[in-house]
Amino acid sequence: MVYDVLIVGAGCTGVMTARLLSTMNCTVAVAEAKCDVAMGATCANSAIVHAGYDAKPGTLKAKLNVRGNALMKELCRQLDVEINECGSHVVGFGDEDLAHLKTLYDRGVANGVPDMRIIGQEELRRMEPNISPEATCSLWAPSAAITCPYGITIAAAENAATNGVDFYFNFKVTGASMAGDIHYISNGDETIAARYVVNCAGVHSAEVAEILGEHDFPINIIPRRGEYIVMDKICGDMANSTLFVCPSERGKGILVSPTVHGNLLIGPNAYPIEDADDKSTTAEGLEEITAGALRLMPSVNTRNAITSFSGVRPTPNIYDFYLKNSDQVKGVVHAVGVESPGFAASPAVAEYLVSLLQDAGLELTEKENYIPTRRHDGNHKQFNRMTDEERVAACKANPAYGKIICRCETVTEGDIIDAITAPIPANTIDMLKKRLRAGMGRCQGGFCSPRVAALIAEHSGKSLTTVTKCGGGSWLVSGRTGCED
Ligand SMILES: Cc1cc2nc3c(=O)[nH]c(=O)nc-3n(C[C@H](O)[C@H](O)[C@H](O)COP(=O)(O)OP(=O)(O)OC[C@H]3O[C@@H](n4cnc5c(N)ncnc54)[C@H](O)[C@@H]3O)c2cc1C
Repeated sequence: MVYDVLIVGAGCTGVMTARLLSTMNCTVAVAEAKCDVAMGATCANSAIVHAGYDAKPGTLKAKLNVRGNALMKELCRQLDVEINECGSHVVGFGDEDLAHLKTLYDRGVANGVPDMRIIGQEELRRMEPNISPEATCSLWAPSAAITCPYGITIAAAENAATNGVDFYFNFKVTGASMAGDIHYISNGDETIAARYVVNCAGVHSAEVAEILGEHDFPINIIPRRGEYIVMDKICGDMANSTLFVCPSERGKGILVSPTVHGNLLIGPNAYPIEDADDKSTTAEGLEEITAGALRLMPSVNTRNAITSFSGVRPTPNIYDFYLKNSDQVKGVVHAVGVESPGFAASPAVAEYLVSLLQDAGLELTEKENYIPTRRHDGNHKQFNRMTDEERVAACKANPAYGKIICRCETVTEGDIIDAITAPIPANTIDMLKKRLRAGMGRCQGGFCSPRVAALIAEHSGKSLTTVTKCGGGSWLVSGRTGCED
């Protein structure tokens, strides 16, 4: 089969583009190097649907952030993904910062950000009682929001799969050739044929551009890692909205933010790294973000930390996103250097990429039978989001909903079986963790992981020894140690 469009990379950029194309009459495939969607920067970021005052007016970043903010809220509602329209503050400490806030305010006005205000200390303290007494002012942007970046990306991917998009996982693009107008994209073993190719490979997008046939590609990617600490839910109400400091040339600085799941998030720092896939955390890095968080909120106590993680930014050698049709290789569209606010902007980036495909000659018409939900039978609601009445009905219909597997996050056997049998089947421990939060609570999977692994084996017809944490060779058990009964 020759697809109309092949998208390389299943982060938010690739998945939002695939989902948008799935609303139209065309055939679409997504090739992803890893075993799931949202395995790159989309999985590990601050989860902020930025309001849009950061980027310089007139840039793609500015335009697509503001539109993406509105579209993201709409999409979360459509696919029933949690979104908290909590707003954000850029917190100032003194007159120099106040001048900076005014610059950001003017940018926001130019970019079309609604309802921003610069507020004084008293109002800031009323809105955020735990803010540092040293904080004197803030830029309040009520249109900023928080959501779950991998949650909405998984939901969008399921919606795309429900509408006919084919996902090829564990398909790392390593080679490409053309015959006539058809691209043959290969992972060394298999080949996918397509008329158009969209490069959404995140931190590897400049390498993929070369693989697709670009010579002297003008964009370099500098991988820049950011580390985070996740605090227990007992800290979840310490901040009512996202709290930034004034940005510097190193980025938006260390923030304190609630999460949609009720935790408190602190981080990130920003350091260039050699290995673009190195997602480790460091003792010094975690100390640095703790100090940054304490500056904003002195009552943050890292004894309540439950885990840490890091994400890698695909920082380009230009200021803006590089979203362009290739002028060297026919039918190739690049989404390169999509760093922050790339998540917030992603539904709008998708619109832009689809318009580039149309400029390149792809003809699109609206699909009459498009299904707007994650699955043919609707948006499955997880047990921990059901009302009491819905829980009773769910348990009556299927007793598996009455069996709690992850006690920290109230994830049931019924939820796990649903995810294993979803349009994109979840068949690793981390896939279930990302979809359901099994293992994301205070015990970090200490109790539920063995039971989750057993359910994966039982319901996906695998042997327990083949179940992995996150694909590849990340097996959990090698066999029995005791006597067989
Ligand atoms: C620390 C940090 C904080 C951030 N905070 C925010 C925020 O709060 N708000 C916001 O809007 N943005 C934020 N961002 C930016 C945002 O996360 C990114 O802009 C966005 O996730 C980019 O998505 P993507 O799909 O382009 O890339 P990715 O999510 O990285 O996806 C690229 C995919 O391509 C795949 N791939 C790579 N090479 C190949 C290949 N050869 N073959 C097949 N597949 C391949 C990868 O496996 C990966 O899954 C942050 C980023 C970081 C790192």
